Amino acid sequence: MKTDSIDFNENPHYQLFLKQQFQQLIIGTVPYSARIEKLKKLRTAIEVTFRDQIIEALHKDLNKPRVEAELTEIYPIISEIKFAKSNLRQWMRKQKVDTPISMLGSSSYYIYEPKGVCLIISPWNFPFNLTFGPLVSAIAAGNSVIIKPSEMTPNSSALMSEIVRTVFDDNEVALVEGEVETSKKLLQLPFNHIFFTGSPNVGKIVMSAAAKHLASVTLELGGKSPTVIDSTANIDKAAKRIVWGKFMNAGQICVSPDYVLIDESIKEQFIIACKKWIEHYFSKQPETSNSYARIVTQKHFERLQSHLENAKSLNANLDIGGDVEANLKYIAPTIVSGVSDEASLLNEEIFGPILPIVTYKTLDEAITYINSKERPLALYIYSNSKRNTKKIIRNTRAGGTCINTNVIHYANHNLPFGGVNNSGIGKSHGFYGFKAFSNQRAVVKQYTFGINELLFPPYTNFKEKLAR
Ligand code: NAD
Repeated sequence: MKTDSIDFNENPHYQLFLKQQFQQLIIGTVPYSARIEKLKKLRTAIEVTFRDQIIEALHKDLNKPRVEAELTEIYPIISEIKFAKSNLRQWMRKQKVDTPISMLGSSSYYIYEPKGVCLIISPWNFPFNLTFGPLVSAIAAGNSVIIKPSEMTPNSSALMSEIVRTVFDDNEVALVEGEVETSKKLLQLPFNHIFFTGSPNVGKIVMSAAAKHLASVTLELGGKSPTVIDSTANIDKAAKRIVWGKFMNAGQICVSPDYVLIDESIKEQFIIACKKWIEHYFSKQPETSNSYARIVTQKHFERLQSHLENAKSLNANLDIGGDVEANLKYIAPTIVSGVSDEASLLNEEIFGPILPIVTYKTLDEAITYINSKERPLALYIYSNSKRNTKKIIRNTRAGGTCINTNVIHYANHNLPFGGVNNSGIGKSHGFYGFKAFSNQRAVVKQYTFGINELLFPPYTNFKEKLAR
């Protein structure tokens, strides 16, 4: 349901929220078996019932190739569900901890209980993955959820709404379609937790709205993720993997390599290798390739085009690509070098298929450059030198790092996924996602005698000595 055109107060989900029906559901905690049942139903819907429609919606919204839709939208949700199902019993178990001697006569443990009613706001670049991925964690943790997907991918949002209505009761999970105004209205409600995926600027708006109710937040944001290639790197392998990571989904990926920082002695060889791999993946005419996506909206197309114009006006070299086709929202896989420090390409998150290359003379220079920018979501290192790799990791900060590859750290459920400061707050995936949607409740149980009782009033000289 789109809510911008109607009185939001009439929205049935909002009414449910006001009547606290969402709250009632989680008080007392949704049992393990009910959570598993919901996850199973969601899995069947995505893997079987709606699979083809998901692929079709992604094709309409983003021209997303089928293989990419399978690998980057369907597979991650299914594997998140499988992982949660295999581990949920353990995650929900009460966790005993040691009790210090000063508390003799008592025992301690903590439990993960549902946070309550949660809001998930998602972006458009991986609409299904970035909506249902967090939803799996929220359900595993026993919450009820309101979802606000992106307005930029309307086919995907409409289908997600249908999936949610098929799988969940109205008071368990509700999906509210709408634009920015809808998001703003939802943000006024007193949620217990808000899980937001999107840009750092909107992340700040979400966090200040959450502050009004002291709702906890997970902010999965973006930014400029650097890729360092030192002189010891295998240039061909680096190009093969960077071209894949950068141009998948036409560069519209939060963990895509935003720019390359390369030792100046190997720059030319790297560009030649990139050209080879671009042609290998997408042919000499990427506009005809079935493996290459399009830019999501005209507005984003124009934003990327203006990055290119700006770089050209500052005398950057267009090494590869540069062709654009407005009607098709097509931008060729593009590599530019000699980009001025003032160029918008080096100062704003690119989020599209343009890769600027910046050269450095010493590794210290590269590290200083990285540290002069906001802390990134990902930092990639291509090097065969353990010393250089260690030096870069030690002297920089990032949400995650891959060595001699990129993007794939996202796929390991055993790793926390998220940013740091400008690129995000909090972590997701696997146990970290379950934790984000849970309240860690500490419990101490006292037995017949507790040593602390020796120090109850009235305070005598003996007790004063004992307390020291
Ligand atoms: P966005 O921040 O513009 O929008 C995200 C969501 O917020 C949408 O649902 C939108 O309707 C809503 N929104 C937009 N403006 C709002 C406002 N003023 N008040 C309240 N809600 C508002 O982001 P986007 O363009 O959809 O996605 C691209 C950004 O997301 C990039 O910065 C990218 O790096 C980041 N991203 C991060 C991750 C991650 O996991 N860290 C994943 C994907 C995308």
